[in-house]
Amino acid sequence: MTNVALVTGGSRGIGQAIARTLGGRGYDVAINYYRNRATAEELAEELRRAGCNAVAFGADMANSSEVDAMFHTIETALGPVDTLINNAGIAPPSGLFQDVDDETWNRAFAVNVGGMRSAIHRALPHMLHEKRGSIVNISSIWGLRGASCETVYAATKAAVIGLTRSLALELAPSSIRVNAVAPGCIKTDMLSTLGPETLADLAAQTPLGRLGTPEDVAAAVAFLASDEAAFITGQILTVDGGFTG
Ligand code: NAP
Repeated sequence: MTNVALVTGGSRGIGQAIARTLGGRGYDVAINYYRNRATAEELAEELRRAGCNAVAFGADMANSSEVDAMFHTIETALGPVDTLINNAGIAPPSGLFQDVDDETWNRAFAVNVGGMRSAIHRALPHMLHEKRGSIVNISSIWGLRGASCETVYAATKAAVIGLTRSLALELAPSSIRVNAVAPGCIKTDMLSTLGPETLADLAAQTPLGRLGTPEDVAAAVAFLASDEAAFITGQILTVDGGFTG
């Protein structure tokens, strides 16, 4: 049986690497994008040339109607989703908690947590019916340990951990597994606002001596999504080169 995987935020960075990895492992892959349609479609084309059944689908994950419409389209094109990778996320600019306005706070929660809720909500009826499915949510080490001047982002990523652990318990009787990956500092566009010196500092603070790559995270996600992790649920797997030691 072919697994159908949806990777939210699959157009760039970590999501793109996850889509490539899952495509390489025989999944049919739905690549969700928000603004970067062209890169998502190029990736789908690249995966199709490699023999994978891959299609790009647009939706703002913060908008539950768009998520619902996207699921309809995926079901028609590829079939129901049984492997859900909730990766789409935004990191608001760093700043003091006192300076965070409502719009910034609400948008971060709408994308980083609300998007997961909508996707899980929409994927669950099929998973519950089949009594099988795997969900992997992308959190962050900042959600585990907190970060000064990153309260909004850290709070959304801590919420992802609560969601993951609670849902894992709720869905275990239906043989649906829910896990999370908490990446450390991974070299993607998300870190592009940090200057080269800060990036070098972060690499130096990492016991393995480098920043992570999107592929480092994708390998952990693919493991948790797969049957190799059949007895693993409710776990938060840190992929940070030892940063949080
Ligand atoms: P990135 O390079 O900035 O890529 C973000 C991805 O999320 C893009 O594909 C983007 O789509 C998508 N996205 C953003 N808003 C969206 C929305 N409203 N609806 C649908 N998709 C949306 O970030 P990244 O570093 O790959 O991060 C991926 C995940 O890992 C995020 O959840 C992030 O919080 C988490 N993470 C990253 C790091 C790190 O160091 N990089 C560390 C810990 C956790 P478009 O390009 O199509 O707009």
